[in-house]
Amino acid sequence: MLKQADPLSQGAGPTAAQRGRVARFVSACAAFALAAAVFAFDTFSGYESAIAVLYAPVLVLGAVLGGRLVVVVGAIVCSTLAVVSFLATHVGAMDAGNTGRLLVALVAIALTAALLLSRLSLHQARAALSESEQNLRIMADTVPQILWQALPDGRIVYLSRRWMEMTGAPIADGLADDGLAFLNWFHPEEQPTAVEQWTELIREGEPFEFYRRLRITDGSYRWLQLSASPLRTETGQIVKWAGVATDIDEEMRAQLAVRATNQTLEARVAERTAELARSERRYRSAFEQSHVAMLEMDITGVVEALAEARVAGNGDGTGYLMAHPDAFDRCVGALRILDANHAAVQLFGAKDREALLAREGRLMSTRTPEDIDRYYALVDRRETIEAEAELRVMDGRTVKVLFGVSQIAAPDGRCHVLVGMIDVTARDRAQELLLAAQEELARANRAATLGALSASIAHELNQPIGAVMMDAQTAARWLEREPPDLGLAKRALARVAGNAERASGILRRTREQLVKRRRALEPIDLGEVVRSAVALVDRELKGGRARAEVRVAPGLLPVEADRIELQQVIVNLVVNAVQAMRDTPAGERVVRVDVSGGDKRLTVDIEDRGSGIAPEHIGCLFDAFFTTKPGGMGMGLQICRATIESFGGTLVVRNNETAGATFSFTLPAYDGDPS
Ligand code: ADP
Repeated sequence: MLKQADPLSQGAGPTAAQRGRVARFVSACAAFALAAAVFAFDTFSGYESAIAVLYAPVLVLGAVLGGRLVVVVGAIVCSTLAVVSFLATHVGAMDAGNTGRLLVALVAIALTAALLLSRLSLHQARAALSESEQNLRIMADTVPQILWQALPDGRIVYLSRRWMEMTGAPIADGLADDGLAFLNWFHPEEQPTAVEQWTELIREGEPFEFYRRLRITDGSYRWLQLSASPLRTETGQIVKWAGVATDIDEEMRAQLAVRATNQTLEARVAERTAELARSERRYRSAFEQSHVAMLEMDITGVVEALAEARVAGNGDGTGYLMAHPDAFDRCVGALRILDANHAAVQLFGAKDREALLAREGRLMSTRTPEDIDRYYALVDRRETIEAEAELRVMDGRTVKVLFGVSQIAAPDGRCHVLVGMIDVTARDRAQELLLAAQEELARANRAATLGALSASIAHELNQPIGAVMMDAQTAARWLEREPPDLGLAKRALARVAGNAERASGILRRTREQLVKRRRALEPIDLGEVVRSAVALVDRELKGGRARAEVRVAPGLLPVEADRIELQQVIVNLVVNAVQAMRDTPAGERVVRVDVSGGDKRLTVDIEDRGSGIAPEHIGCLFDAFFTTKPGGMGMGLQICRATIESFGGTLVVRNNETAGATFSFTLPAYDGDPS
């Protein structure tokens, strides 16, 4: 086992060095003195004995003085002196006795030298060992880990100084309790099983690694990584355990934080995934169960084809696709149905879902600039399309549908849309029938009105016109006389004028009666009547490829009028407006209907962008039978004005500054007093 480091014991101070030098000097002097004394005694005393043996202490002093080299040189010098002395005293008298003594002395010198050399080697080896041991100890105390050693049974017998620095406890405390006291520094949560685990790991006899929290000087805990390996003999027997405990607190805490974050993230991802799954299930069930036919489609190919058309048409994709039916076919042919619900399968008259998904070819059978503009709006601005279209279904029928298309999320940059469709064929047919019936009714009404009017006129006018004719003839006769009777002729002509005046009065009264007969006055919401009237002319608007924009100011008072008549006025004015825009470019055919007003009066302006009114026609526009249309009757505006006036209002027209004309009628606001 390594000893504990003791820095104070390392190296000698200046006094020790001095002492060493003095000792060496004294030894050298003593060695020389002794060698000289032995040589002198051996050479000059004449004493017959192995005096040269006494050179041995000289060698011992030499060993103390300077190590191996001094011993070897000393042995050679001493042997030489012994031989020189022998030759000097025994020249010519050499016998076996004195030669033997010389040999004994030389052997003694050689043995002493050999002994001293071996001792010196041993001493040097010890010094080297102690130095390396010391180096090792310094290293063990310098590394930032706790190094430890344990007996084969796991009892700790060595802890490096880092233990002390970390725990603030003396090393002896960690080694107490038969080498297991260090376990008491583990975190309380890990202590109950600490001894058991330690013993188990040691018993297994394999290198191991584990993580524990160690209480440090300030009472807090830091994570340590403890790793240990057994040291074995050649036969495999464990002689001891060596290990290292590394402070990995920062890494461990970072790891724990990352793990905690990961767990939170995983929990969130799981939660979000579950939410998405729920929402997907909800979407699926809404998709499947809906009575509205729904298709999920991939329009990536369409998007590409639209972009190509835009390039080919120098920015005007719509114009290009209108001019190139083949390009349009390719574009709509690139639609791919990905999924369809039950209602869609039924709408398309498909055998089953798979048959519908396998369907090839175009869905829509119409190709209009409006349709194409809508496709561009969908892909460019992700707008939701809502429109009507004719759909070719699988049994060859054409079904009219009201459809809505919106983009939905799609993977890998593809473009998916959800299409909802309602079959409006039946509804449209009913509406067409209704409108036709309404038109028929209006025509019949007009005919009946005119019939009644003309019958009434004929009846009422019969008499004054007959009288006019008779008086005119009478006047003619009075004038043909020779000489003419101018007085009587004048009287007859005055009667003609009177009867003509009466006829005009009859006409006026008849028209007033006509208007009065239809009256059923009640307070009504002008905005609502305008909207419903505009809805009635939807077909005319579509037929004329025009659209109406209705704006009703909020909080308007009601007006007192006959709802049906008022509707007829608005219908008439809007239809006229649409007809006047025949030559206007399709995109600009807009009829704006503004309803505004205050406390006293409400105004409806019907503004178009049509031909406007020629200056020479402005004065006679409201006259009966004035028309510029080949099949026109010229009664509409006249009846409109009469109707509005009968409600206490006025109807006027003006040409717009830019284009078209604006018909405006004003009605008194209903103040609660029935008129
Ligand atoms: P008609 O049935 O013949 O159109 P109306 O009384 O409705 O009878 O209209 C009379 C004439 O007034 C029309 O023939 C047309 O020349 C002109 N007119 C009516 N409305 C407009 C309008 N919005 N813009 C231009 N001219 C119009």
